[in-house]
Amino acid sequence: MVVQELKDFIIRYGKEQGADLIGFAPVGRWEQYNEVPPDFRPQALWPPAKTVIVLGIAMPLPIVETTPSVLHTELYKTVNAELDRMAVNLMRNLNRLGFASFFFTRDGYGSLRALREKNFAAFSHVMAAKYAGLGTIGVSHCLLTKEFGPRVRLVSVFTQADIPPDAMLERELCIKCGDCAACCPNACIAMRPDQVIGDYNKTACLEKAEELTARRCYPCGVCIKVCPVGLDRRLYKQKGMRKKYLKEKEALLRDGNHPEYRPWQHVRAYGVVKEAVKKNM
Ligand code: SF4
Ligand code: SF4
Repeated sequence: MVVQELKDFIIRYGKEQGADLIGFAPVGRWEQYNEVPPDFRPQALWPPAKTVIVLGIAMPLPIVETTPSVLHTELYKTVNAELDRMAVNLMRNLNRLGFASFFFTRDGYGSLRALREKNFAAFSHVMAAKYAGLGTIGVSHCLLTKEFGPRVRLVSVFTQADIPPDAMLERELCIKCGDCAACCPNACIAMRPDQVIGDYNKTACLEKAEELTARRCYPCGVCIKVCPVGLDRRLYKQKGMRKKYLKEKEALLRDGNHPEYRPWQHVRAYGVVKEAVKKNM
């Protein structure tokens, strides 16, 4: 099988398996851009790697908007399981075709306790997706894609096959609106005048994750919910939501049953104990 045929096969296979996004990054891009510490690069993790294939599944906006909720938690778990299933099966298929492959699960954080000790994953799918041309990194440190903004989860398969790469995006997708920073419940994100990517307080974000995990309605994802980038907003007719997002916290503090937010509050009220519902605002 020639490499272009292999690429077409992987794209077809990925789509059939349910991937919403698929991109191909040559491992040389980690060296070329020199943004990722050497031990976290594909060649260091698995030296035969020539290409990293990144698969993405979208997180539907109307469910992300209910965060923090058990519905959002269940979606998150389902999407993660789907990503791992797709990636392990792609790896096995590539191995059967004679192209040795290796995969990284979509998270790899292990547990929040492990994250407390070492606030990193062994491999960044966000950087892999950027090098595979799927998007750019925004103020919030999330990958922003044209199709779904940051509402996409990712997994990566390394392969020995030298597959024709996808071009990286030339234009930043982040418009530096600052909504992710303004809406973050723990003030973890700060805009920077000198660059797109903001300052990010990982510990404060982890504390939010710990609080939500204790209440069984994780992850937070407010920065993902409010980002205006993404064609998914057109699909769901959810453009022009800025004011609603920015006013949510204040409106719900005044009236927990505020009519504008009632459907989200309804979803949030089930599957969590009462005390947790109050904190959901
Ligand atoms: S996940 Fe939540 S706490 Fe963490 S940066 Fe985003 S909005 Fe802030
Ligand atoms: S919310 Fe605005 S500033 Fe934050 S990542 Fe999205 S576009 Fe960029």
